[in-house]
Amino acid sequence: MAVYAGPVQDLIDELGRLPGIGPKSAQRIAFHLLKLARGDAQRLANAIIEAKDKVTFCSRCFNIAEGAGDTDALCSICSDERRDPTVLCVVEEPRDIVAVEKTGEFRGRYHVLQGAISPIEGVGPDQLRVKELLGRLDDERVQEIILCTNPNIEGEATALYLARLLKPVGLRITRIASGLPVGGDLEYADELTLGRALEGRRDVEG
Ligand SMILES: [Zn+2]
Repeated sequence: MAVYAGPVQDLIDELGRLPGIGPKSAQRIAFHLLKLARGDAQRLANAIIEAKDKVTFCSRCFNIAEGAGDTDALCSICSDERRDPTVLCVVEEPRDIVAVEKTGEFRGRYHVLQGAISPIEGVGPDQLRVKELLGRLDDERVQEIILCTNPNIEGEATALYLARLLKPVGLRITRIASGLPVGGDLEYADELTLGRALEGRRDVEG
């Protein structure tokens, strides 16, 4: 429903496509942006374009990596030889890697699914980096997979799906311990709590 004409409505429409921004927030941000000095608006626009031009996803784990257009780009963790390749921590988004790294409890590698299973939003396993996860198991001497998806409905459904899928592969499959705020995101858990959840991870039955 277009209320404003031309460029103002275009701006509201674009902002409304961002995650977690409803129509009211989109309007509020649009009018905030209109009040900015041109230089400030330009800096924001430049930051978006620069990030798009310089950042890509790691070809192995789908964390963010430098080098746009480089299809073989590796992130800083995958390029670090000191990281233990036998343990893979499976997370939903690159920001979850930051949360786990802050705990200082994990020295293995990661795999970013780039989402979670959500029938309501039409996201199934095919929309996630599941095939790529399976492809890594043979190549990288993986012995344990820690299912570190969010402690909410989508995250639990994703962990359960992966546990069942991976069971026949014969690896150790673990899930971070409960005790995290239920329904929340990993990134909202404090370092100590998330560290304990990792340490207290349990073997899961598929
Ligand atoms: Zn990587």
